[in-house]
Amino acid sequence: AKNGGRNNYQFFVAAMHENAAQRLQTEVQLRQALERGEFLLHYQPKLNLAAGTISGFEALLRWNHPQRGLVPPLEFIGILEDTGLILPVGEWVIGEVCRQLAAWQAQGMTVRPVAINLSARQLQQADLDGAVERIVGRAGVDPALLEFELTESMLMANPEAAVEILTRIKALGIRLSVDDFGTGYSSLAYLKRFPLDALKIDRTFVRDLPDDPDDAAITKAVIRLAHSLSLKVVAEGVENVEQIRELEQYACDEIQGYYVSRPLPAHGCAALLAGAPAM
Ligand code: C2E
Ligand code: CA
Ligand code: CA
Ligand code: CA
Repeated sequence: AKNGGRNNYQFFVAAMHENAAQRLQTEVQLRQALERGEFLLHYQPKLNLAAGTISGFEALLRWNHPQRGLVPPLEFIGILEDTGLILPVGEWVIGEVCRQLAAWQAQGMTVRPVAINLSARQLQQADLDGAVERIVGRAGVDPALLEFELTESMLMANPEAAVEILTRIKALGIRLSVDDFGTGYSSLAYLKRFPLDALKIDRTFVRDLPDDPDDAAITKAVIRLAHSLSLKVVAEGVENVEQIRELEQYACDEIQGYYVSRPLPAHGCAALLAGAPAM
């Protein structure tokens, strides 16, 4: 037991070096991933509660690592952001969504808007709207089929700059929504300053519905206030029918979560839109 502390320390240092080495290796591999075509998108549908129809999708980034297989974004988005690689990868995501929309349209499908997660670094990019306009124009896709999701912290880091860039993006015809609402520091009154269309209630508030009275009260109040500001509300992380019944009572507009569908490869969405089973 006397040596325990020292051994733990040595273990800690060894683990730290291992993590640093691993991170460096991941960074090197991420730099090559884009040119090697290892990134791909999965799409998770959103369901309109009143209509009972698929109202849109969210594009979610995946890395098809040659050895590790499909790597989820939380394992590499941080590294992309720290290294600035998120800028080219972020542009690839926008272009890939446009290509997918054009492909679905070419197949004669009735397409629905696809939401794209933006990172803070992208929002700080001076010519973000110019870059987006070029990518969308090249693909020949209607900008109304695109939506950008931004977190509260991204909006609040520099609100004046955010209002300016988002106003220009909104002018292109792209829809805007606040992601993970309730987890950051902002108020709905403040959000009024941004040209937003929708608000996504974070899944931590949805998880314990309908049993947790605090979460129920918060969700209900957020939906009522959002509606009074003409914002549409999407509930995230919906996993069971009890949650849906509760959200219907609050007049929540749309739901997203495993109950409707997990994120799917593009061909699975085509089947969903065509009304066939997803898999
Ligand atoms: P997010 O934007 O909040 O995306 C929702 C996450 O919740 C997704 O995880 C999705 O698979 C997961 N999810 C959906 N429904 C349920 C459910 O019912 N239960 C549970 N437990 N989880 C559910 P994913 O795909 O691993 O993405 C994680 C995060 O990575 C995203 O969180 C987003 O912040 C980030 N991300 C994903 N794609 C991109 C991208 O292209 N660009 C950027 N900048 N960030 C991205
Ligand atoms: Ca999101
Ligand atoms: Ca979210
Ligand atoms: Ca979240």
